[in-house]
Amino acid sequence: MQQIARSVALAFNNLPRPHRVMLGSLTVLTLAVAVWRPYVYHPTSSPIVRTIELEQKEIRSLLPEASEPIDQAAQEDEAIPQDELDEKTDNQHEYVVSTGDTLSSILNQYGIDMGDISRLAAADKDLRNMKIGQQLSWTLTADGDLQQLTWEMSRRETRTYDRVANGFKMSAETQQGEWVNSLLKGTVGGSFVTSARNAGLTSTEVSAVIKAMQWQMDFRKLKKDDEFAVLMSREMLDGKREQSQLVGVRIRSEGKDYYAIRSEDGKYYDRNGTGLAKGFLRFPTARQFRVSSNFNPRRLNPVTGRVAPHRGVDFAMPQGTPVLAVGDGEVVMAKRSGAAGYYVAIRHGRTYTTRYMHLRKILVKPGQKIKRGDRIALSGNTGRSTGPHLHYEVWINQQAVNPLTAKLPRTEGLTGSDRTDYLAQVKLVLPQLRFD
Ligand SMILES: [Zn+2]
Repeated sequence: MQQIARSVALAFNNLPRPHRVMLGSLTVLTLAVAVWRPYVYHPTSSPIVRTIELEQKEIRSLLPEASEPIDQAAQEDEAIPQDELDEKTDNQHEYVVSTGDTLSSILNQYGIDMGDISRLAAADKDLRNMKIGQQLSWTLTADGDLQQLTWEMSRRETRTYDRVANGFKMSAETQQGEWVNSLLKGTVGGSFVTSARNAGLTSTEVSAVIKAMQWQMDFRKLKKDDEFAVLMSREMLDGKREQSQLVGVRIRSEGKDYYAIRSEDGKYYDRNGTGLAKGFLRFPTARQFRVSSNFNPRRLNPVTGRVAPHRGVDFAMPQGTPVLAVGDGEVVMAKRSGAAGYYVAIRHGRTYTTRYMHLRKILVKPGQKIKRGDRIALSGNTGRSTGPHLHYEVWINQQAVNPLTAKLPRTEGLTGSDRTDYLAQVKLVLPQLRFD
């Protein structure tokens, strides 16, 4: 019985709001009829009539929530502008384990089913002990379910988990190669990507360089004859290059030197051990507003049976509330567009994009550089929206993540013995990053 009640509740929650309101009213009617029946059979007893005063807020809760209709998200899907530096992810996702991560916190923010996460953990208990700097990559099925997960535990050992009939099957691979350092250098000709490829970097290595430097420079703005020096550690196995790791990079642009050097924790810092990523605000407003609709990448429309993902989170707020940029970046979109209404997209470094929809007024222009906390718009109720609210999205590497739980950059640097170790590493690497 409990199970039936739960599935009824589930089905009910999956219905679009107008249907829910309707169904809710029907249920009330049915109950009323059930309550009334005895009086039909005993016409002599006088019916009890009671007037129930509804509180204003209770009446309000019957109204549709301040958000979009369920089909909205698909129509809101305005493409984020991409360029050649963007990673071509498709269904392939990559993640480097950092402080505080667990298997479920990582996969959950990408919308992977909790059942699949526990089946993975059951396939290999070691997955509970992931270490900082290790790399995870995974592929999804066409339905968005986890197909395969790869865990690079160390330079030598990689474990792969493949979906099978009732869970995941683990296979381990051990490699033993020799790691050698190579310095690759050159000057920028046409584009950085082409120049770096000409200098001998693979496209994966070029991506690693761009990622490490993303908070310091915009690679599209490099000038002809700017110089770069990249120190790669490459594993050679039977004379073949197996994998590589970026040790450090130096770029000289218009006479100024920029550095990013890898630390033991797998992150890149500048010469002083200062973090390169600038922190993000968790909320795009000065104060926190009520969530009227959550992030749900697998939301099903019960009528069409299609997945109509809700790629962001809706905050109910009065019209005209100042909307703030959550991080430093560049405005890549600021216009009116159908279902999204007035909307703004901001690109932060190479990895992150944030989007803000249903605005009343836009205060920025495409191409404009903005700082964290800058007012970019006033919230509104434009486009397909059922009440004043802000629809807010966070994208990591071209994929929407849950803005309330996603791991966002924090301002951080190394301290204590970590910093001492790092500065010793800098002392070794720096002299190797030569241009001549
Ligand atoms: Zn929304």
